[in-house]
Amino acid sequence: MFGRAPKKSDNTRYYEILGVSKNASQDDLKKAYKKAAIKNHPDKGGDPEKFKELAQAYEVLSDPEKREIYDQYGEDALKEGMGGGGGGHDPFDIFQSFFGGSPFGGGSSRGRRQRRGEDVVHPLKVSLEDLYQGTAKKLSLSRNVICSKCNGKGSKSGASTKCAGCQGTGMKVSIRHLGPSMIQQMQHACNECKGTGETIDDKDRCPQCKGEKVVPEKKVLEVFVEKGMQNGQKITFPGEADESPDTVTGDIVFVLQQKEHPKFKRKGEDLFYEHTLSLTEALCGFQFVLTHLDGRQLLIKSSPGEVVKPDSFKAINDEGMPLYQRPFMKGKLYIHFTVDFPDSLTPDQVKALAAVLPPKPSSELTDMELDECEETTLHDVNIEEEMRRKQQSQGQEAYDEDDDMHGGPQRVQCAQQ
Ligand SMILES: [Zn+2]
Ligand SMILES: [Zn+2]
Repeated sequence: MFGRAPKKSDNTRYYEILGVSKNASQDDLKKAYKKAAIKNHPDKGGDPEKFKELAQAYEVLSDPEKREIYDQYGEDALKEGMGGGGGGHDPFDIFQSFFGGSPFGGGSSRGRRQRRGEDVVHPLKVSLEDLYQGTAKKLSLSRNVICSKCNGKGSKSGASTKCAGCQGTGMKVSIRHLGPSMIQQMQHACNECKGTGETIDDKDRCPQCKGEKVVPEKKVLEVFVEKGMQNGQKITFPGEADESPDTVTGDIVFVLQQKEHPKFKRKGEDLFYEHTLSLTEALCGFQFVLTHLDGRQLLIKSSPGEVVKPDSFKAINDEGMPLYQRPFMKGKLYIHFTVDFPDSLTPDQVKALAAVLPPKPSSELTDMELDECEETTLHDVNIEEEMRRKQQSQGQEAYDEDDDMHGGPQRVQCAQQ
């Protein structure tokens, strides 16, 4: 050790390494570290020593307790406090906890850390009946598992050599000439070692996995679709995705996709059912059988004297969807009624109906009053279509209004009258 400087301890170096002031907030520290760590990452050609220092400085200053010790007594106090193993913190640990994995591709020969494998997401089509009653689906999937013969080493001896194609980095840089003075530099996974940074001698290859370290395996998963589950809901099988050496296996995730039902629509816990009544049924009463999603036959009927208006709703309690994880509770079943009116009536029908229906409002007009009115003709329209066209023409400012008013289809329709 060199002779100590007169000051009692060095408690500024960590702040200098990160380039922040002594009263920097946790947020400032985090930002400064993140920026510097990316810049100095050895995978990007940074100095490994500098990277290590950064991680060490951040590790101390980001911990309020350690920061206080450091501020008061300096680095040495912390080294003593950390005990054996010299702290034992790998700068890559901190870096990866920050970014959830190395951003510079996997398989760095330097940091053999446990990366997390990717999750495998499958859509799972289910019917509304499945979601109402619950079901179990058996699915056969193929996935990679660690080779049992070589325990994921890929070789008989367990030895591997640095890939010559990439010097063990797993990455290769290629240069493309885009023009006389322009080049594009691209980094990609090494094709010789598939980005692992190591190769296995041909004679030493594991006979079971041929040096691939993993072998495909068929697996049957039983997916339980519970009553009341929703479209888009996820069912997760933790750690069932592809296995790979030095990797925490990801999950298999099924995402429910409900198929359209020809009769029922679902909104949350409620069900909607469309039913069309004839005019006679709407006025004089109706009954019909509704087959529910579990096959039960529900008798739906009106009360005596009840009139059902067009485009009206009625509901039955506790015949909607079961609630997820509380399947004994159910939403409502709404029935939407459409009334099918006759297109026209014969004079006899008009007479008979007028005799039984409530009387018309007394609006008899005198000849005098009629003389003062102008005759008009009502014609059929498709109101949605007409409103849509009007809105479109309003949106277009340069649109000639005259053209719209006397345009083709309108005139044809008038001429037919
Ligand atoms: Zn390579
Ligand atoms: Zn093997």
